[in-house]
Amino acid sequence: MPLSITFHGAAGTVTGSKHLLGLPDGRRVLLDCGMFQGEGPASDALNRRFGFNPEDIDALVLSHAHIDHSGLIPRMVAEGFRGPIYATEATRDLCEILLADSAYIQESDYRYDAKRAKKQGKAMTEIGPLYDSGDVAATMDLFRLVPYATPTVILPGVELTFIDTGHILGSASVHLTISGREGVRRISFSGDVGRYVDRLVPPPQPFPQADIIICESTYGDRDHPAAEGYEAELLGHVKRICVEQNGRLVIPAFSVGRTQELLHQLNKYFNQGLLPRVPVFVDSPLSVNATGIYRKHSALLRPEIRKELERDPDLFGFPGVEFVREASRSKELNGRKGPSITIAASGMMDAGRIRHHLFHSLGDPANAVLIVGFCAPGTFGARLLERPSTVNMYGEEVQVRASILTMDSYSAHADRSELLKWIGCQDPSLVRKVFLVHGADNSRENFRDLLNGQGFRRVELPRQGQRFEV
Ligand SMILES: [Zn+2]
Repeated sequence: MPLSITFHGAAGTVTGSKHLLGLPDGRRVLLDCGMFQGEGPASDALNRRFGFNPEDIDALVLSHAHIDHSGLIPRMVAEGFRGPIYATEATRDLCEILLADSAYIQESDYRYDAKRAKKQGKAMTEIGPLYDSGDVAATMDLFRLVPYATPTVILPGVELTFIDTGHILGSASVHLTISGREGVRRISFSGDVGRYVDRLVPPPQPFPQADIIICESTYGDRDHPAAEGYEAELLGHVKRICVEQNGRLVIPAFSVGRTQELLHQLNKYFNQGLLPRVPVFVDSPLSVNATGIYRKHSALLRPEIRKELERDPDLFGFPGVEFVREASRSKELNGRKGPSITIAASGMMDAGRIRHHLFHSLGDPANAVLIVGFCAPGTFGARLLERPSTVNMYGEEVQVRASILTMDSYSAHADRSELLKWIGCQDPSLVRKVFLVHGADNSRENFRDLLNGQGFRRVELPRQGQRFEV
């Protein structure tokens, strides 16, 4: 049997990362097991059908903790997967809180729907959550930790090496050397590639020569604005909205990665004496926990950041910042008068406490929503980026009078030039095939043309469920 790759997610979409390797001897290794997000009712259907039998998977290799890469692992476990899950320690730690949070949201949404159906005397039409906290606990027992740059045999004839991609804490590209009767095959999977500009985590690292590369292409069609001045950009928004307009600056952000980047930047302003006296609310229990994990793994941060730690032992906390855990406190903030900065999840604004903050802030022209991350098509965030005059929230039409601001510089994803730089460590003449995943079609097509120009002759844009022999 030839070696094969079947793309079960992030193939034509940005979410649901799931790539299945079929080894010549019949064993199966799955790269990532991400959740589909932002496709409305279609997401749920996609999340309930893997396209393969989880019991047949011999090992799972996880690039990083983001839910669109890890979010369906407990579902796999619920359906009978019992193999090892290989990840870095920071990825395991982040998964523990992210997956527990995901289960909690699903269970409480389900209970809410059931209660509402009962109240209305209707039959419950919703099917149950994808998984529960028990499945998450069983999942955590399957993790096997692999440090960066440490070749590790994960199955007979299959060696795994993780290399830092500088995307979030613990993120890695995955490099598999598969030896068999047919010879040696080297497969590299980018996971998500980070930035070469100054951030908390180090820049993406080069990787050994590969035969086959599965590469993300989220920003395959554009470059982020120049990094210079981005340090001052956030401060400019804070001064204009919170000081001059006395308004609220609402920042939707992923709890993991983006929130810590923002807190670190605000902490830096504070240390420099530049931060105006404005209360900062980090309104997400998950962010509070994730920040703890960033503190625990500070050895993985960029050397300059580790140096900062010698002068300031807490890079994410300063007078004026309040970490909000309780839902009752979160609700109090909605009625609060005066300027404030509120960082809350989710980044794409489809769920989480950010929805309440938006509902209570969008109507006032003094306020602003600062969008600092990628919003997948179909999400509430993508809708807001179109700057509509009204949006529908909780069954009400809400006027959008607040400014909608964007700041691309906080993106954790490599842009087009950075992706080219990442893959530039390879000799294109030795690469037999590049598969572009994790990008909308225009991004993938644009990046394919660029790669062709760099000498990567065979670049494929796989579709959902498509299988390739390699
Ligand atoms: Zn990611």
